Amino acid sequence: MIYFDSAASYPILPEVKTALRNAFDNCFANSSSNHFLGEQMLAIVDDVREKIADHISAYPSEIIFTSGATESNNIAIKSILLGDTELSKKKHIVVSAIEHKCIFSICNHLKNNGFSVSLVKPNDFGIIDAESVKKAMREDTALVSIMHVNNELGTINPIAEIGQICFDNRILFHSDAAQSLCKQVINVDAMNIDIMSFSAHKIGGPKGIGAVYIRDLRKRELQPVIHGAGQEQGIRGGTVAAPLISGFGAALATFPNYYEGFKKKNIRNYLIEKLQTSGVNFIVNGNEDVLPHIISLTLPKTNTSLLLQKNSQRFCLAQGSACSSREIEASHVLTAIGLNRELADRTLRISFTNEVTYSEIDELVNAITKAAL
Ligand SMILES: *Cc1c(COP(=O)(O)O)cnc(C)c1O
Repeated sequence: MIYFDSAASYPILPEVKTALRNAFDNCFANSSSNHFLGEQMLAIVDDVREKIADHISAYPSEIIFTSGATESNNIAIKSILLGDTELSKKKHIVVSAIEHKCIFSICNHLKNNGFSVSLVKPNDFGIIDAESVKKAMREDTALVSIMHVNNELGTINPIAEIGQICFDNRILFHSDAAQSLCKQVINVDAMNIDIMSFSAHKIGGPKGIGAVYIRDLRKRELQPVIHGAGQEQGIRGGTVAAPLISGFGAALATFPNYYEGFKKKNIRNYLIEKLQTSGVNFIVNGNEDVLPHIISLTLPKTNTSLLLQKNSQRFCLAQGSACSSREIEASHVLTAIGLNRELADRTLRISFTNEVTYSEIDELVNAITKAAL
């Protein structure tokens, strides 16, 4: 099996497996417990909290552990807007049309609570430019949410520029960084980010753990996502998942190195060159300046359904995006950049692990060639 779906979930790194094994053996105590083992757990949890904070130039007190980016996005938008008496008077938010689906679902919940939502369209290259975000802002805009790197295209939004505009207009800025953590430099101060979402399983960590950064968290009023016994500054109740957090820490420490090695392979360019020499008709979606582990390929002259069917035991590939591939709708990201239904169906999102090889790419291109219409 060749795994081309790392943007949906990255295989667990060997260092993470070791950390998890150790943690499952030894990290059984509750980090809230007032005894030696409890305090040991707390130290592990707080060490990872500090590493995440360092990684994005924030303070550890501004990091809350969550179950993943979906929950982080819930806290970032719902808990912040519904919990703050001043903010909740403003009833408008701005989000992009190419966000992860969970953002739209959160927006629908807010609409039911009297908010209105403006959707910013990307340009034809899948980028949300700062100017269009500015145009969507209103007097009563409470928050802007624009993802850092798009999970279907790999495109990188100019979040520092958008952050500056939000700062100038005193509007909170949230960015979903599930795809960019450990792959792009993140500095929440330099980029004027107020809230940011992360997930461990996109960088070789375990599923079910993530984090949210909230600027000046201690000074804010937030509505808890889970009402509990005061864990995670009262925002996210429940016993803190110390073993998973330890795995998250190992992923954070090791993934960047693997990714650097991956970048040197120039796999994306290799694939494009192979497609060119094989004579396949193809379009690469997005602009040139994308993250190299994702490529969105439209194959107008290829029977993509047949390709996927015939190779279902060989390749793990996403048609559109993993979250929507079992649905009948075309991907909202692809339609937002102007693809019609038919072209969206003929689009593959190929996302590489750091271990991908040239011969795996050769095999993929061969299979694509054979599925010509
Ligand atoms: C994967 C992903 C999510 C969801 O993350 P979970 O940790 O699985 O909840 C959210 N946003 C983006 C951009 C993603 O790629």
